[in-house]
Amino acid sequence: MAQEEGPLRVYILPFICPGHMIPLLDLATLLALRGVAVTIITTPANEPLVLPTLHRSASLPHPIRLLLLPFPSSVHHLLPQDGQENLASISSSSFHGLYDATFALHLPLLDLLRPSPPDALISDSIFSWSADVARELGIPRLVFHGPGLFALTVHDTIHLHSPHLSVSSDSEPFLVPGLPHRVELTKSELPEPFLVPQSLDTKRDAEKNSFGIIVNTFFDLEPEYAEIYMKEPGRRTWLIGPVSVVHKDKNDLSNRGRDPDADPARLLSWLDAKPASSVLYVCFGSLCEFGDDQLNEIGAGLEASGHPFIWVVRRNLGESFSPRIEEIKRRVGIRGIIVHGWAPQVAVLGHPAVGGFMTHCGWNSTLEAVCAGVAMVAWPLFYEQYINQRLITDVLKIGVRVPGVGGNMLLMGWKNDVVKAEEVARALERVMGKGEEAEGMRRRAREFGKKASAAMEEGGSSHGDLDRLIDELMACREDKGKKPEVVSSDV
Ligand code: UDP
Repeated sequence: MAQEEGPLRVYILPFICPGHMIPLLDLATLLALRGVAVTIITTPANEPLVLPTLHRSASLPHPIRLLLLPFPSSVHHLLPQDGQENLASISSSSFHGLYDATFALHLPLLDLLRPSPPDALISDSIFSWSADVARELGIPRLVFHGPGLFALTVHDTIHLHSPHLSVSSDSEPFLVPGLPHRVELTKSELPEPFLVPQSLDTKRDAEKNSFGIIVNTFFDLEPEYAEIYMKEPGRRTWLIGPVSVVHKDKNDLSNRGRDPDADPARLLSWLDAKPASSVLYVCFGSLCEFGDDQLNEIGAGLEASGHPFIWVVRRNLGESFSPRIEEIKRRVGIRGIIVHGWAPQVAVLGHPAVGGFMTHCGWNSTLEAVCAGVAMVAWPLFYEQYINQRLITDVLKIGVRVPGVGGNMLLMGWKNDVVKAEEVARALERVMGKGEEAEGMRRRAREFGKKASAAMEEGGSSHGDLDRLIDELMACREDKGKKPEVVSSDV
């Protein structure tokens, strides 16, 4: 039985990659700051990523706790190598093994939680099996969605109407019907689950059997899509973002999601010496696997643009820079910094010297740019990133597309056509330039940045939604005889 007195006890189960762990760790901090007793559940090799969040909460009335859940030995053969339990530390060809192994966490988690079940379980939407854990424990399960409401609505609409089945090739555009904006996509730009519809159905069923849905966004960013998404009968939704705003302290910000080898101070002092809005920040998230040819063209595009830049190139364990990158590094000299590994992204984006962001349109990166009021050069790679790109460029109009970016890189095995340096430089100039187009994007981005901060302040929409979420979970706990309600099953 869940305890009926004392602080609300919430357990959080993030999927094991930075783009999912980082926002859920931020949500854990937000909840702990409101007096909730939070426990993060993860596997042993991911402990170092969680420790800074635990340490930061040490002085709170209920410091955040950690529950380690080892993979059972029966699935060790699915893990890429011992000690590599995060998508960011393996190559994309091993993603499926690690993902499949997570299903085996179901029973160990149930055994761990059964003696003293929490008041609620917040689970990454990817862990559809956690709906059974919550049901068996008799506690509410809340789904945390990685993407925002525009992407979730586009997903719903494509799932319902299958417009992608009416086109004759992967590159022929189709219109996503019934949306407030004209949104066109191609089949090759769709997220992977549309090609494995069963996995989509399992996730949706688990969602229907949950207490509600938490989304890292704020109402004023996607109001039309919030209305469409939330009007689904019985769908209980809380918009509690942007969660990255929880970090007020400069030091916390620099260390958010940090790779222990990173040197945030060096980057930030380099930025201190640059004029306002002069620097381009380039980062393709935590999972990018561009080959040398593409990296070379990006480097040449950055060189040609003439702007100072910080470019983050993902580093796999033990890997050193390729000779080509070393050569670009030598050529650009002090005008650019190439980070091989991890940059303190939120701190960099929030620095006044940064004037533009070339991004892969991951949802966290997109929101972080919005918070910082920085316009984007939108170069999606996979998952729902092409949909996020349309939000950035066609709906919010705070970024431009890079021409020639063609289709889901995971599905193409990272073998897409190489985007040429001239295209890269042209797109960068559209965002960093002085004309009306660039000014307009920057103005709109700054306006959204102000709205993002306001949403998280007392009296703001996301602040209110988090209060409402805590109150509803408290009421659910106090209503002892009541089973957790279930959202509508006709979504
Ligand atoms: N990130 C970072 N430094 C890096 C690369 C990524 O801080 O060098 C953070 C970034 O701020 C964001 C997360 O990692 O919070 C990446 O999430 P996103 O959804 O943008 O992309 P993903 O990595 O999941 O593709």
